[in-house]
Amino acid sequence: MYTVTKRMEISGAHFLHLDYPSKCQSLHGHNWVVTVTVQNDSLDKNGMVVDFTQIKDVVNEFDHHLANDIMKDVNPTAENMAKWIYDRIPHCIRVSVQETEGNVATYEE
Ligand SMILES: [Zn+2]
Repeated sequence: MYTVTKRMEISGAHFLHLDYPSKCQSLHGHNWVVTVTVQNDSLDKNGMVVDFTQIKDVVNEFDHHLANDIMKDVNPTAENMAKWIYDRIPHCIRVSVQETEGNVATYEE
């Protein structure tokens, strides 16, 4: 089994739709640290599970953008961002989105 992990830091902004009062409803920025893990029992003809560049291109859609614009009708919580990225990368098994040093959301199969 081959496992590849890519970690990236991106800067962006979002505001959350919540059913309780929170400062997160106001527009604010994050330096998100996104960690993507892909896994497969075989490699493609280039000797890769997934090209690091393909992972980077998906994650970079959020870089210097408003996550609400990227995710449209989906509330851009760290949890939903992790799932959104997971759904767009082949052979993905886990995505973690770290908002702050102590706050990390993970989606995994
Ligand atoms: Zn936030």
